Amino acid sequence: MSQYRTFTAADAVAYAQQFGGLDNPDELVDAREIGDGNLNLVFKIFDIHHQSRIIVKQALPYVRCVGESWPLTLDRARLEAQTLVEHYRHCPQHTVKVLHYDAALAVMVMEDLSDHRIWRGELIKGVHYPAAAQQLGEYLARTLFYTSDFYLHPHKKKALVAQFINPEMCEITEDLFFNDPYQIHERNSYPAAIDADVAALRDDPALKRAVASLKHSFFSHAEALLHGDIHSGSIFVADGSLKAIDAEFGYVGPIGFDVGTAIGNLLLNYCGAPGQLGIRDAAAAREQRLTDIHELWSTFATRFTRLAVTDTRDAALAQPGYVEDFLKKVLSDAVGFAGSELIRRSVGLSHVADLDTISDEEMQHACLRHAIELGKALILIAGQVDNVDELVIRVRQYS
Ligand code: ADP
Ligand code: MG
Ligand code: MG
Ligand code: MG
Repeated sequence: MSQYRTFTAADAVAYAQQFGGLDNPDELVDAREIGDGNLNLVFKIFDIHHQSRIIVKQALPYVRCVGESWPLTLDRARLEAQTLVEHYRHCPQHTVKVLHYDAALAVMVMEDLSDHRIWRGELIKGVHYPAAAQQLGEYLARTLFYTSDFYLHPHKKKALVAQFINPEMCEITEDLFFNDPYQIHERNSYPAAIDADVAALRDDPALKRAVASLKHSFFSHAEALLHGDIHSGSIFVADGSLKAIDAEFGYVGPIGFDVGTAIGNLLLNYCGAPGQLGIRDAAAAREQRLTDIHELWSTFATRFTRLAVTDTRDAALAQPGYVEDFLKKVLSDAVGFAGSELIRRSVGLSHVADLDTISDEEMQHACLRHAIELGKALILIAGQVDNVDELVIRVRQYS
């Protein structure tokens, strides 16, 4: 068994030579650490032609963006690798391929997606990938259906729950999504100009009661193996291609959480668009985001329903009409989780570039206020939204 040590660039090259599965591993000569995330080391490994060929990702025993004062389990590397491997089994076209991982070193080797771009950056620039929303819907339908009780034998399902017990990463979500924004907390961060809007979150019993229900669902609804952090910065896109990465928050939780995180990030982009593109160009970008949300949900629901008709193993769950009932509940959950994503990315610890990189301060504050108001509204009306047209109508209403 290897022992944990933090990789240098040279370690990463040697590791990629050994486990990258390349025909000419000796051609791998160089590595650059490119991690831009909050948590981990990511090395891009180059060959003698300066071509990047493979990626080595290693978990650090603490939160990278905070430092050693916030320790964090190395087991997340196993959870990330195993979640991606499981999702790849069910949806290889939209999941990054993991080539190797080592639990003790908390390291994995994966395919290099340097010919793709992170979706968030493209969304911010207004670059449209016409297939992306549908492909994300397809990814969510396949990964979530095939890891749910619709498909798995009850014994296999319970083994899956046990395999993906992820208490420390779940606790981060439990705190950052559902607690911090609704209380005074040193981790929160937002401009003083929106103080009153944030104070109103703390002073809204109906909102906090709805958030309690979302958190309770996140705690207890073991519906399927979630990605757990499927925001637009965990998604690579290229012409006609979409790949999910970065699944270290993977655990068996409520399906609406993944769907809602995906929708919530499209809505964060929607809220930030006037600040990024100017008010005139933002109108078209916003219409496109609403179309994206419609396509994402419609594809997800159509595919999930079709899989339920052809591949449901449990006789009771195969009862005609049940999957439609279930998906109504998933949409309501997703609307609530999308609302909580809007709020926590506006006032909590971890922000998104869609709002953070708006240079005009007044405009940024207006966009942040919009995200908070829309988030609040969605959390409060989630239970009444049972089709995606209704969701789009509601989003327009709060614009
Ligand atoms: P973290 O868990 O620290 O957020 P990520 O998995 O999101 O790390 O990776 C951080 C960055 O590294 C990504 O935003 C991307 O730029 C780059 N990256 C990660 N995986 C790959 C890959 N397979 N191919 C190319 N670049 C990658
Ligand atoms: Mg990341
Ligand atoms: Mg805590
Ligand atoms: Mg990550």
